[in-house]
Amino acid sequence: MPHLLETVRQHAADVLARIAEQEVVPAAPLPEPASLSVQGAGLQAALDEFAARWEPVLSASAGPRYLGFVTGGVTPAALAGDWLTSTWDQNAFSSLDGAGQHLERETIGWLRSLFGLSDRQHGTFVSGATMSNTVGLAIAREWLGEQRGVSPAEHGAGSLGAVRVLSGAAHSSVPKGLSMLGLGRRAMVSVPTRPGREAVDLPALEHALAEGEADGPCIVVANAGTVNTVDFDDLRGIAALRERYPFWLHVDAAFGAFAALSPDHAHLVDGLDLADSICVDLHKWLNVPYDSAVQFTRRPDLQTSVFQNAAAYLGPLGDTPDMAHLTPENSRRLRALATWFTLRAYGRDGHREITERCIGCARALGDAVDGIPGLRLLAPVRLNVVCFTLADDPTAERLTALTEQMADEAFLTPTVLDGVPALRAAFSNWQTTETDTGRVAAALQAALHKL
Ligand SMILES: *Cc1c(COP(=O)(O)O)cnc(C)c1O
Repeated sequence: MPHLLETVRQHAADVLARIAEQEVVPAAPLPEPASLSVQGAGLQAALDEFAARWEPVLSASAGPRYLGFVTGGVTPAALAGDWLTSTWDQNAFSSLDGAGQHLERETIGWLRSLFGLSDRQHGTFVSGATMSNTVGLAIAREWLGEQRGVSPAEHGAGSLGAVRVLSGAAHSSVPKGLSMLGLGRRAMVSVPTRPGREAVDLPALEHALAEGEADGPCIVVANAGTVNTVDFDDLRGIAALRERYPFWLHVDAAFGAFAALSPDHAHLVDGLDLADSICVDLHKWLNVPYDSAVQFTRRPDLQTSVFQNAAAYLGPLGDTPDMAHLTPENSRRLRALATWFTLRAYGRDGHREITERCIGCARALGDAVDGIPGLRLLAPVRLNVVCFTLADDPTAERLTALTEQMADEAFLTPTVLDGVPALRAAFSNWQTTETDTGRVAAALQAALHKL
């Protein structure tokens, strides 16, 4: 075992040593499918086969010029934490087991402090922002029940009657969550955004709230960092509307919450703590490996109503319910450990530096795009995403041709903004520097010439 693990460690170190220079998205053909062997090949042979057949077609998503979606890398400390998560293989769901849950609670406290949240916000680890949004909406659903004198957790979503979920530019995971929760995608009411923006128009939101007043309390999903243009709703303004209209305020701050780490940008998430539930992804800008996100809420009692998993063998609910009673999963890994390691190793300052460097890189690429005649910025660079398109004839086909031309050097993903096909370059990897930004700008310019 020690020798085999040493071999794998050396292999991982070699992968990481060349990740910045490998093709970002390899063009090599996929391997032929292989069948399961009756006899095991052994770990060394498995490693050799993985290296030969599969590694050449994996992307450098952990590297510095993978700018698609919103993709974090893995800090060295987070990688160490992830290795040790599997080494210890704890099931962090029950107090009948060791201290895993306590480590998770300590880590949640650090995250609260990182994002400037009060200790009224109770946190739990989930697998990603989609699950975090879904858990937040599940608690919101139970709150609606409380307002209407029913419990959807006991009697089903049908006991609620019609539900309205208001949002300006909600992430696609919100309707997905509503579908899973039996509320239905059509519960979404799309509220107009401010002119030329993805931030919700506050008077329009108030109008929508007034219009639905007869139907009783509803859910508002506010956005702190939209994926296309990283726009932020006025969280404090939205929260103040609760004085006149009863609603559950869920904030999707999947990566936008990290604005709190930068003194120059913290105002963007002013009021975040006022939310009833909050979604923050960790496998994006915290740079821990997949799968990791956190879900905060001020109503862990309602969360327990939804997710309690009452069984004599699992342990009591009590005042501090076990994790098994708080999220969709029962058994799961000690998900907090990678986050614990990276926060302990680099501290608030280390993660502030990562956040600010990513913002600086996005600014620099935004300036570069602005200076390239064939390209056009579609929004100012507010945080870490550059959203742009072709100055002439910006079709999806031409944008795909552009990204294919430069796939060895950088990875960008397509989107559509206000009906205009566009590209996004999202900066959230701890390794990315302005040298990389320069290379991306040069690759864009070269690809343009070949269009
Ligand atoms: C990425 C993202 C999500 C979904 O996150 P997953 O981790 O992919 O589930 C939700 N909301 C926003 C704003 C995001 O950026």
